[in-house]
Amino acid sequence: MAVHWQNMSHINRNEGQKFYVTTPIFYPNAKLHMGHAYSATISDIFARYSRLLGKDTYFLTGSDENTEKAVRAAAGAGQQVFPYLDGIIGGFKNLYKRLDISYDQFIRTTDKDNHWPGVEAFWKRMVDSGDIEKRSYEGLYCVGHESFITEKDLVDGKCPDHRETPQRIKEENYFFILSRYADKIRDIIASDAIRIVPTSRKNEILALLKDGLEDVSFSRPADKMTLGIPVPGDNTQKIYVWGDALTNYLTALGFGRKDHALYDRFWPADLHVIGKDILRFHAAIWPGMLLSAGLPLPKNILVHGLITSGGLKMSKTLGNVIDPVRLIDEYGADAVRYFVARHISPFEDGDMTMDSFKEAYNAGLANGIGNLVSRILKLTSDHRVSSDLPSKEDVFADETVQSYAQSFDEFDIQKACNHIWTRIASMDREIQETQPFKLVKSADAASAARGKAILSKLYRELWIVAVLLEPIIPATAATIQGLIRSNKMPSAPLFARK
Ligand SMILES: [Zn+2]
Repeated sequence: MAVHWQNMSHINRNEGQKFYVTTPIFYPNAKLHMGHAYSATISDIFARYSRLLGKDTYFLTGSDENTEKAVRAAAGAGQQVFPYLDGIIGGFKNLYKRLDISYDQFIRTTDKDNHWPGVEAFWKRMVDSGDIEKRSYEGLYCVGHESFITEKDLVDGKCPDHRETPQRIKEENYFFILSRYADKIRDIIASDAIRIVPTSRKNEILALLKDGLEDVSFSRPADKMTLGIPVPGDNTQKIYVWGDALTNYLTALGFGRKDHALYDRFWPADLHVIGKDILRFHAAIWPGMLLSAGLPLPKNILVHGLITSGGLKMSKTLGNVIDPVRLIDEYGADAVRYFVARHISPFEDGDMTMDSFKEAYNAGLANGIGNLVSRILKLTSDHRVSSDLPSKEDVFADETVQSYAQSFDEFDIQKACNHIWTRIASMDREIQETQPFKLVKSADAASAARGKAILSKLYRELWIVAVLLEPIIPATAATIQGLIRSNKMPSAPLFARK
């Protein structure tokens, strides 16, 4: 292409007419935490933005269930494993519903009908490429990680994350000869064929790739895995997490199944949203697997950080855990969405405390958009002033909206939010400075007309804000749009001051 991509950002937005976004598939932990809420919310914001642009959008989430951890947790709860898993997944779906997460499908790796055929088909492709090899393997296995770890990861002979001494295990495994693809993967990432955002994460993975990649254990003896998918043609082995979990992004679309219309329509993924702890799997192993299977590569990987509280990792012992469900109960889904979108950087670790949350809520929602909506609609309804409302398409054609759209192109949700709240602040300022509430009551006809003209402009501006808010706080955006259309002020504040 002759034109540099930066000059084409506006065209690009309209060019790709489909958008496939995924969250990581989560471990079925009993306790849902802010990390789940965060990953799901930012993925949802991208899905909703894409729909707002009129793109054919698919949003996938799910759970990574074939783990011994789940088996042990079920036993600990005195339950059979499948009812236990169903209960946990019910909790996930409930959280998503409460948070307005508009996913199209929830894929479970225990789903034999929808997930397993694709995993098997994928495995066979890798075998056909000559990239799967049986080897005897001896290594250090951390039960907490459910994976082998290397000697150099240990601190005082123990896994630093789980503070357990790893077991020395010798067993037969199928290996994926990932080392073969190290150079190719490096080129793919260096050239942004898979674009890793932010650049600091791209550089991190490039540094890791400089030394090449080790082959990875791709199966485990079947008697050591209660759950999981048998290796095609060898029942004594089960497919290990990489082949089982990463493939969800394909299997959910029908890859390897008779009905693969979704696969044809949506693969490759336009965006994998992941946490930084699973960067290596998504930026090294996953592209290697796809190269081996001869399938198209995902286009973008957004790597977000962790949410800490008071500068520390949330933990029960520290007593600084923030429960997303309690926050939703107290403040509503849109308040939680607003906070993580505007006050947590999508690219770095972010911090939240109950105090910082409340402060942000009062400043940005109660005194910010909530107050502005009441103020403008009180005046426009009292004085029967309105304006033509631009279509959503026209909103995006507006020159002033370009920086918002540009922020989304860069996956910078925080910057997109700042764009909206800058508009809100400047509307507040305009009301303060021009005092249309006085002008409209003026006996002087010219002044009254000027007051009405200002109100009409604010009414239209408010509509634009309500459109731009759709991906971020969808329920509130819909409410505001409804109020604007009927030119009515809200009967109660949109966000009560706390
Ligand atoms: Zn560990």
